[in-house]
Amino acid sequence: MVVIVGAGFGGLRAARALRRAPVQVVLLDRNNYHLFQPLLYQVATAGLEPDQIAKPVRAILRGQKNFDFRMVEVTRVDFNDRRLQTSAGPIAYDFLVLAHGGETNFFGLDGVRTHGLPLKDVPDAVEIRNHVLTCFEHAMLEPDAERRRARLTFVVVGGGPTGVEMAGALSELIRLVLVKDYPRLNIKDVRILLLEATDKLLAAMPERLREAAGRTLWRKWIEVRFSASVADFDGERVRLKSGEIIPAHTVIWAAGVKAAPLNATLGLTVGRQGRIPVEPTLQVPGHPEVYLIGDASYAEDNGAPLPMVAPVAIQMAEVAAQNIVRALRGQPLQAFRYRDQGTLATIGRNAAVADVFGLQLSGFPAWVMWLVVHIIQLIGFRNKLFVLLNWAWDYFFYERAVRLITRE
Ligand SMILES: Cc1cc2nc3c(=O)[nH]c(=O)nc-3n(C[C@H](O)[C@H](O)[C@H](O)COP(=O)(O)OP(=O)(O)OC[C@H]3O[C@@H](n4cnc5c(N)ncnc54)[C@H](O)[C@@H]3O)c2cc1C
Repeated sequence: MVVIVGAGFGGLRAARALRRAPVQVVLLDRNNYHLFQPLLYQVATAGLEPDQIAKPVRAILRGQKNFDFRMVEVTRVDFNDRRLQTSAGPIAYDFLVLAHGGETNFFGLDGVRTHGLPLKDVPDAVEIRNHVLTCFEHAMLEPDAERRRARLTFVVVGGGPTGVEMAGALSELIRLVLVKDYPRLNIKDVRILLLEATDKLLAAMPERLREAAGRTLWRKWIEVRFSASVADFDGERVRLKSGEIIPAHTVIWAAGVKAAPLNATLGLTVGRQGRIPVEPTLQVPGHPEVYLIGDASYAEDNGAPLPMVAPVAIQMAEVAAQNIVRALRGQPLQAFRYRDQGTLATIGRNAAVADVFGLQLSGFPAWVMWLVVHIIQLIGFRNKLFVLLNWAWDYFFYERAVRLITRE
């Protein structure tokens, strides 16, 4: 029996890749759904419903005969007994694929952990949507001009793809849509800041595209600040390491990820970002029947760490599944080699940067490529259709469908 922990990009692909293998596959996850994390920021900015970017695991794999699913939290792995401890008791395995992903890295900033808004799962995205819309409602009730401006100041931290996409989508939500809902709002009271600790946005991109992204953000009235590290946030004020104070009620934290906490319980050597170094074959050192893939694993390509992105997890899943089949047949295992497919980031309507298939594109062509790639990758015809319909509606009518405050 092959047990897979995590129904994210890696775990789901591993389960599918084993569909013809002579094994029983059991997939475990604490959630009953697979989530397409790259579009989470669109849920956070009222563009999409959560169920358009997520799908129940049982529905995705119900046609696979050797497959079963259990909704459990895995708390420990007993490598010697080949057994997992879970919220529903122990589960034994012959082969194990660990694909439990990552979590938000607050870099030890307790204030940000308490008052900031991470973006990693569905509840995070819904909370950001509720919070942003609530800030507007409260601002409308606030007679004091300074306090009103603080409610309408939105700080996005992290100049990687998630921060850039989030800032761009937030600006469009406010300047194209909310401005119509709040006709008495003075748009000059609204500020969006994108803070980046280094001197670069989208560090993995070529310089030309980084500069194009920076120009587009400025055109969308986003104040981009470089060498700006957050030291603390108390819910009303952001303090930078430079000592500067920014009055703001919103900090959206897109500054980092680290491996999920299960890694720390495994008793294995843990490296940078809590990731565990794996053998070239993706096996866990000392445990040849255990494979570790995706964000929770650490592997290198030409001496550089592989990024925590979906293509790495998917490609690792395929190699891990093949190696399990090879091990069953007594064949030598293959080493993992990453095929880099490039990077894409969108900054709102008609604006994106793409470094893919040897092409460097910006503006409208990159945006079209971004749309096509994301629609293809979304799971399920229904989700593809509804996301496309939503995007078309927003594009032509300057609307966002999901402007509900569902709880406070
Ligand atoms: C907001 C955001 C935007 C992103 N945008 C992009 C992008 O544009 N392009 C890109 O390539 N990558 C992007 N990424 C990164 C990408 O989503 C990850 O690299 C990818 O999901 C990693 O896949 P994985 O299988 O390792 O983990 P995940 O996909 O995170 O899956 C891990 C699964 O394990 C489950 N799990 C964890 N611990 C346990 C436990 N103890 N017990 C039971 N279940 C558990 C979780 O519930 C989850 O379902 C983005 C990530 C975020 C958060």
